[in-house]
Order: sequence, then C-alpha cells, then structure tokens
Amino acid sequence: MFNKILIANRGEIACRVAATCKRLGIASVAVYSDADANAKHVAACDEAVHIGGSTAAESYLRVERIIEAAKATGAQAVHPGYGFLSENEDFAHACEAAGIVFIGPPVEAIAAMGSKAAAKALMHAAAVPLVPGYHGDDQDASLLHREADSIGYPVLLKASAGGGGKGMRVVERSEDFAAALASCKREAASSFGNDRVLIEKYLTRPRHVEVQVFADRLGGAVYLFDRDCSVQRRHQKVLEEAPAPGLSQDIKREMGEAAVAAARAVNYVGAGTVEFIMTGTGDFYFMEMNTR
Ligand code: ADP
Repeated sequence: MFNKILIANRGEIACRVAATCKRLGIASVAVYSDADANAKHVAACDEAVHIGGSTAAESYLRVERIIEAAKATGAQAVHPGYGFLSENEDFAHACEAAGIVFIGPPVEAIAAMGSKAAAKALMHAAAVPLVPGYHGDDQDASLLHREADSIGYPVLLKASAGGGGKGMRVVERSEDFAAALASCKREAASSFGNDRVLIEKYLTRPRHVEVQVFADRLGGAVYLFDRDCSVQRRHQKVLEEAPAPGLSQDIKREMGEAAVAAARAVNYVGAGTVEFIMTGTGDFYFMEMNTR
C-alpha cells in the first residue's frame, strides 16, 4: 500500500479520492489552479501544491508541473480521477519515467483504446462481437464509399480518434456519402488532429448498455454488472440506469463475459467501462472501452 498519493484532479472526484485515502490511512496531496485556491478538494487533502493559472491548460493539464509536485511532496503514486489527464498516454508515460505509479490502466491499454479503429481490430481478434462495418487503415475515399455501399445504408461515419459524441455523421443514402465523408473528416481533423474515420452500420433505435469491469495485475478480471445509458442528447449520455432494465440473465452474462474478454485483450488493469450497442432483438456489439 502507498503512504502518500497525489490527486491530479479537482472538484468532486478529487474529494472522493481524498476521502478514500483518509479512510485507508494514506496521505493525500491536492493540486490546484489560481481559481481553485479555496476549493473544497484543497481542504480535503493533507497537503496542496499550486500548479498554475486558472485555465485547465495552465494547470490540470500540465504534465511536468504535476510530476514536479508529486516529486516535491514525495507522493509515490498519482490518481488522475477522470477527464483531464486520466486517458492521456503521455502523462502515464511521464509518471512511469519518474518512478511514480500511475493509478490506472497500463499505458499500452490506454493507447490501444485511444483509437476506435485499432480497438475494433483488437476486439475482432478477441472474438468480441462488433457492429458490421469497416475499420481498416486504407482511407481512400472511393474505397470508403464502396465499403459503405456494401454495408448497406444507413451507415454511421465516426472519427477514429473521436469522443464525446463529436465527429459522427449518419449517412442515409449513397448519394450523400462523399459530402458526409468530407465534413466528418474536417471535423475530425479540427477536433482531434486526426482525420481517420471508420464506418458502421447505423442501428436504428439502439440501446446503449455498458458493463463495469475490474482487472488486477495478475491476470484476474471480473465484471460488476451493467448500466443502460440510452437516454442521450446529441450522442451524449443524459441519464444512466443501473442495472440495465429488462435484460435476461443470459444476455447479462454474455455481455459481462464479452466485456471481460475485451479487458483481457488489452491486458487491462484497474476499473474500466466497456460500451455496447444493443438492438431491439438483444444482439449486442462492442462500441468502445473507456479506460478509467
Ligand atoms: P463517443 O466516443 O463520441 O461517445 P461512441 O462510439 O461511444 O462515441 O457513440 C456514442 C453514441 O452514439 C452511442 O451511445 C450511440 O447512441 C450512438 N451510436 C454509436 N454507434 C452507433 C451505431 N453504429 N448505430 C447507431 N447509433 C450509434
């Protein structure tokens, strides 16, 4: 067990991690921006280090400054919370290089799940069910168009590096494909700095069901049940309902086992969420894994 950890986050999640540290007898270090000097998470920790100006870019996203704070206070590990640096490969690397434990999945798992296309290739190899579609490297526009035609409309174009519901286009007809591809690539390039796309069959009125997984460093992995996140606005969750209602025990077990297979396929460690999309007839397909 650690004696002291640094919490590289703010607000509610930082307070929760601090409370757990207290309960476990672990000393905690907060970091804070100018705007957060009097914030609750600062008071909730045993020590606090000022890391910069009020914007996230000047404070909570500054990798070197956070590593310095951890070294200066003798923290043995960093808990990234969620958002900010929690799914940032470079930060996980920097912790490792500084001899500080990153409390989260291995760098390789973050990298593997950071690209929706690469993640789908890995899941395919692990026999996790995938939405019919194309996630290949070849991004030639006419090839993508042919793939969409053969998948059958409607299709969904997704930015491979995308997230937060951005970089997606539903294409209803072959005639609309070229324009939708161009606009999806533009948004992907400006939002994520990478214009790679993948194509999926667009499922009408699907459910979004996700499974919580936990994995240890010894190869053990379990699933701790499901949540329904189908109530969305602009492809972003609005409500989560746990457990997911109206699923048979068989489907719950099959999804749980598929989620564990997904976690094992990337040698996952820690807590993670495996997202599935489900049709009205109970078929479900891997969508992505959130590495936190
Ligand atoms: P993001 O990473 O941007 O959150 P996701 O791939 O998780 O993107 O998809 C977000 C939401 O978009 C899903 O919860 C679902 O509602 C919808 N969606 C994703 N893929 C499909 C699909 N193939 N057909 C229909 N809806 C989809």
